Amino acid sequence: TVAPSADLRNSSSPLQRFVKGKRKINDIFVEIEDYVLDSSNYVSALRKENKVIVDEGDVKLVTDYVQKIKGIRDVLARDHMKVAFFGRTSNGKSSVINAMLRDKILPSGIGHTTNCFLQVEGSENGESYLMTEGCQDKQNVKSVGQLAHALCKEKLNENQLVRIFWPRDKCFLLRDDVVFVDSPGKSNTNIFFRLVPVLWQFLYPELSMFPGIDVSPNLDEWIDKHCLDADVFVLVANAESTLMVTEKNFFHKVSTKLSKPNIFILNNRWDASASEMDFQDQVRAQHLERAADFLVKELKVCSPKEANERIFFVSAKEVLQARLNEEKGMPPHSGALAEGFPNRYFEFQDFEKKFEECISKSAIKTKFEQHSQRGKSVSQDIRDVMESIYEKALATQKDKSFVKKDLNDKLNFTEQQLLLITQEMKEKIHHMVEDVEQRVSKALSE
Ligand code: GDP
Repeated sequence: TVAPSADLRNSSSPLQRFVKGKRKINDIFVEIEDYVLDSSNYVSALRKENKVIVDEGDVKLVTDYVQKIKGIRDVLARDHMKVAFFGRTSNGKSSVINAMLRDKILPSGIGHTTNCFLQVEGSENGESYLMTEGCQDKQNVKSVGQLAHALCKEKLNENQLVRIFWPRDKCFLLRDDVVFVDSPGKSNTNIFFRLVPVLWQFLYPELSMFPGIDVSPNLDEWIDKHCLDADVFVLVANAESTLMVTEKNFFHKVSTKLSKPNIFILNNRWDASASEMDFQDQVRAQHLERAADFLVKELKVCSPKEANERIFFVSAKEVLQARLNEEKGMPPHSGALAEGFPNRYFEFQDFEKKFEECISKSAIKTKFEQHSQRGKSVSQDIRDVMESIYEKALATQKDKSFVKKDLNDKLNFTEQQLLLITQEMKEKIHHMVEDVEQRVSKALSE
């Protein structure tokens, strides 16, 4: 069989590393929060009793951390792995996402043009619904048809985000905290603006940028709003044509804002090349070279060796169909499929494997590394405050015992003096008594 089952993939999935790491760092921050709260109460109470050993600065430092740690905990609880898809309309972005999610979730097909950002994420309670930006209402959606309808009736601009919540237990990627973002494809209806970049690239293939025309005039806003926290970007290209300047421009912009973004290139619709078996290898080699040049030489985001792990030739439509078949208990290849399907299916799975490794590694680094450093420095700062309080308390204790010793010495000295005096007095009295006795007895005998 070509496809291992979803459960089998899940148990060995690198995504689990992120999930476990997230659980662990959240637990650690629960402990840090306890520690900070305790310390803050203790330091504040101590300051009221003794202003010498606890500074106002110490109290402020510790109590300020209470809010900061709460903020970090909120961010950590919401953290997820994010993948953003880009490419021109109809290249197959929705189909790729659906294939990865093993279900027809996003509406796809010619005629439907997503004109806003769609984000698919797991819902907690097994519900499926959507939420539009700036609105707290949940709109129930049970099917793709309903979803497409709901999206059409909304008046959305291309910068807006529609969040689609889908039951986590339906797909392990959602269960493991992967969030998918589908970008609005270029839906410029003006044929002139569509053709100019194509002609430009045809005339000047060595120039990568077409001046003046972008995928979207709001590219910067797009990136800032929806992409800065993406761990992986997937460019869904059409294997039947070359990479377009407009598609490339987006990634040029991304790589000016993010250092070394992780970019995958999927040459989709590779099934269409099956009919041209004679040229398939040549076409593949040409696409591969151009895509690798784009990643390595133009964007400089990876080495030539890494680029081989980032470029794939797939058919999202076939994979989705195969997975829907499997879901129904049928063999993946049932139905009329083009020649070479097993290889393309295998390549898609290979992409998913590399994608999972990449997204998990990147998310752990970008989302947890900074927070774990912060956690360490907070506990160190509080420890320093506690140690300084302890030192000051010890110093005052020493002062007290010094005074005590001084008093004791004085007391001893006085006692000794007293003893001496008493001794002297005793002797004097003794002599006096003896003298008086002698004189009395003398007087009596006389
Ligand atoms: P999007 O606009 O980029 O989201 O593209 P869609 O996923 O909506 O796909 C547009 C059309 O292309 C749909 O009719 C899909 O069925 C079809 N399509 C998507 N992927 C493939 C593929 O790999 N092979 C073929 N032959 N058709 C595909």
